[in-house]
Amino acid sequence: MTTTTDLVPYEDALASYDPVMGLEVHVELGTRTKMFCGCSTELGQDANTQTCPTCLGLPGALPVVNATGVESAIKIGLALNCEIAEWCRFARKNYFYPDMPKNFQTSQYDEPIAFDGYLDVQLEDGETFRVQIERAHMEEDTGKSTHVGGATGRIHGASHSLLDYNRAGIPLIEIVTKPIEGAGERAPEVARAYVRELRELIRALGVSEARMEMGQMRCDVNLSLRPHGTEKFGTRSETKNVNSLRSVERAARFEIQRHAAVLDSGGTIVQETRHFHEDTGSTTSGRVKEEAEDYRYFPEPDLVPVAPSRAWVEEIRAGLPELPLARRTRLLAEWGITALDMQAILNAGALEPIVATIEAGADAASARKWWMGELARSANESGTSPDELAITPAEVARVTELVAKGDLNDKLARQVIEGVLAGEGTPDEVVDRRGLKVVSDEGALTTAVEEAIAGNPGVAGKIRGGKVAAAGALVGAVMKATRGQADAARVKELILEKLGVGEG
Ligand code: ADP
Ligand code: MG
Ligand code: ZN
Repeated sequence: MTTTTDLVPYEDALASYDPVMGLEVHVELGTRTKMFCGCSTELGQDANTQTCPTCLGLPGALPVVNATGVESAIKIGLALNCEIAEWCRFARKNYFYPDMPKNFQTSQYDEPIAFDGYLDVQLEDGETFRVQIERAHMEEDTGKSTHVGGATGRIHGASHSLLDYNRAGIPLIEIVTKPIEGAGERAPEVARAYVRELRELIRALGVSEARMEMGQMRCDVNLSLRPHGTEKFGTRSETKNVNSLRSVERAARFEIQRHAAVLDSGGTIVQETRHFHEDTGSTTSGRVKEEAEDYRYFPEPDLVPVAPSRAWVEEIRAGLPELPLARRTRLLAEWGITALDMQAILNAGALEPIVATIEAGADAASARKWWMGELARSANESGTSPDELAITPAEVARVTELVAKGDLNDKLARQVIEGVLAGEGTPDEVVDRRGLKVVSDEGALTTAVEEAIAGNPGVAGKIRGGKVAAAGALVGAVMKATRGQADAARVKELILEKLGVGEG
């Protein structure tokens, strides 16, 4: 299939049009059991071993609401500054698809549990952009189809399909933004920043691990353009199931360029769903979008309404943890760093390791230095994130402690870290095994200094004559002789002492 899509250069598109975006994010909750039955949600089990009459939609089976699912939904709603419904119902969204054995999805329609909120998100330059939230509602996931026999693994060309209902009925929260206007050329960046902030929020609430690469969080990107100076929204396209932060940004950018090309040539945008392709960064047409009435929504008769008492809602509110943006703002002030520094820490995935290292006793500056330097480099080289490295925050804290005590200098500390990463043991074990201690034995140092002076009479003469800067060469000689294990500042003092010059 080679359909080429006309695109307008990004800057040209923005010169003529304003983008309007809507983001729909699905989050799989980390509850132990499914939303409406007692089946386990554990991942990686054999196909169809976590099913029962309820999640298979067998006749006569009755659903029961998972209280933890409702509590998680309320937590998310409160953290998004939403109102929490005093009374709401589930609804049946009717459609046929083989991965959904009930022939309807239990969802919420006109009575979401949470509505009318907002989330402040931070852009790369530290500026804040407020995204208005329309609603957050509860629903359930579908099963998983595997298409077999074709070359591409897609349904086209497959000889048959396998169905696994283990995922069917796992609780989902769908979070829908109001139309995002006024972001201009930064719209794709806002989309990415929003999904990232939402992911951090979900993780901080402890309601899901929100791992996008595992499908625990996925985003639909709605996008339309309108000519500058006009009010009316254009027709939107909806790019489904985008599953990485980078892809969210690229999908929005691509759609802006594609819409502009269609509109510039006098064409009209069809309202449709589209698929994003990681390899090319492009989208292709999916299906023409159903209207809500096609789903024949009606209130779910088998479930009682959800009516969370105000006392319970306030109890949940009081128990919310410090939220990510507030926490980052606090840490930024405590550490005395800039918004850009913080952004770099986030991009490196180093925030949690740094915080944990400080909690383990390191000072903030040292914790940042190691995680953003040596360890970020290691993570990068091995293609992992810093928190997956074979060194714990406590071990990094121990290294900073050894440096602070003067037992290690930076160069030795790097070797210790290298040893820990290579599986040679704890920092103390690596120090012992590799013999990496700063030589602080004055006798040994004095001998090394005397040898350096004797071996470099020319340099020594210059220093005696007052050229203190020349001492660097002798310090270098001593460091070499001690294999980098001397305290360089102390070595310099000893050299000046021996040659009878005072510093400064
Ligand atoms: P559906 O469930 O059919 O996808 P929704 O009404 O839930 O439709 O809207 C999807 C998202 O798209 C929402 O975030 C909404 O704010 C946004 N949206 C609606 N109309 C437009 C438009 N013309 N352009 C861009 N985004 C839009
Ligand atoms: Mg949608
Ligand atoms: Zn079940």
